[in-house]
Amino acid sequence: MKFNTKTIHGGQEHDLAYGAVMPPIYQTSTYAQTTPGGHRGFEYSRTHNPTRKALENSLASIENGKFGLAFGSGLAAIDAVIKLLKPGDEVISTNDLYGGTYRLFTKIFEDFGIKFHFIGMKNADEVAGYVNKNTKLIWVETPTNPMMNIIDIKAMAEVSKKHNVLLAVDNTFATPYLQRPLDLGADIVMHSATKYIGGHSDLIMGALIVKDKELADKLYFIQNASGAICGPQDSFLALRGIKTLHIRMQRHCENGEAIAKYLKNHPKIEKVYWPGFEDHPNHDIAKSQMDGFGGMISFVTKGSDYDKAIKIVENLKVFTLAESLGGVESLAGHPASMTHASIPKEERVKTGVEDSLIRLSVGIEDVDDLIADLEQAID
Ligand SMILES: *Cc1c(COP(=O)(O)O)cnc(C)c1O
Repeated sequence: MKFNTKTIHGGQEHDLAYGAVMPPIYQTSTYAQTTPGGHRGFEYSRTHNPTRKALENSLASIENGKFGLAFGSGLAAIDAVIKLLKPGDEVISTNDLYGGTYRLFTKIFEDFGIKFHFIGMKNADEVAGYVNKNTKLIWVETPTNPMMNIIDIKAMAEVSKKHNVLLAVDNTFATPYLQRPLDLGADIVMHSATKYIGGHSDLIMGALIVKDKELADKLYFIQNASGAICGPQDSFLALRGIKTLHIRMQRHCENGEAIAKYLKNHPKIEKVYWPGFEDHPNHDIAKSQMDGFGGMISFVTKGSDYDKAIKIVENLKVFTLAESLGGVESLAGHPASMTHASIPKEERVKTGVEDSLIRLSVGIEDVDDLIADLEQAID
């Protein structure tokens, strides 16, 4: 089955009771048993719920995995991955990381005795230099947020296989429409399904997808034992979102390209970060591991300062000033004061998140309206 069919049918079966085409929202906490243990595969909804199961099967299908797990948020999904580890274990992570992931690693899990190394991941040798006998996990985000840095997933998979450590990839920005990390050798794909997977800015959700049965069983155990699951209503909404993922992503990519090029030619813009530009760092890797460049763009204005950047985002009218990304509507954000405010300034500036950086999540509106909006705000 090809991707555009998988988004609609992958892992799905028609409802056995009435043949409903969409899985019903099983708004129930528990399931009747005929005799103790005599149930039809569902006992309690923290452990299993048919609507969540339908979503998890869809997620596994679109990521070319075998097992999907849905959580109450992206961070809850990451939390479950780190709970595979024990005190003394070490993680090598991308340094230009989603702020909330950085906060979870440093403010929660460091206190539990897990050590994190935050590095640029420019190449495999750099990463291999940090591997020691305690290393258990390599955590990759690509494209990174908000600098759109590209990390070579295949090269990271080679390091992880050689040293027998797990490789997890946060695939939130690319989505499986553009990038399938399991095919490139990753062990775990993670999503903030809040973003492109849901796609309509109406839910908070996380996901993990794996191929290996043993790893899946460990994660299902953590999902049930820690209990950070999502509810059936949100599972239904995410499943509905996935059914249009391919056409939404196609338009996000088209609009993203037009806006990136518009900004690059604008006399008041200093720099535009978008992986589709030939002079973008690791553009060749982006080209080989992605099927398109997406709708996320960051830029800085010429001679720009904090106040100017704030003024631009305040003056946008079609773009909404808001955290988050990946919805049908265009959003603009100011990472230094919003999504990345929890990262200390010296760390933040080191990775390029200057005070003047603006991040766009380009939506699927008419691109002429989006460009006109940027034009008036920048002027
Ligand atoms: C939003 C986001 C997360 C966190 O997901 P939540 O659903 O907000 O918990 C993690 N990684 C990336 C890249 C994100 O954009």
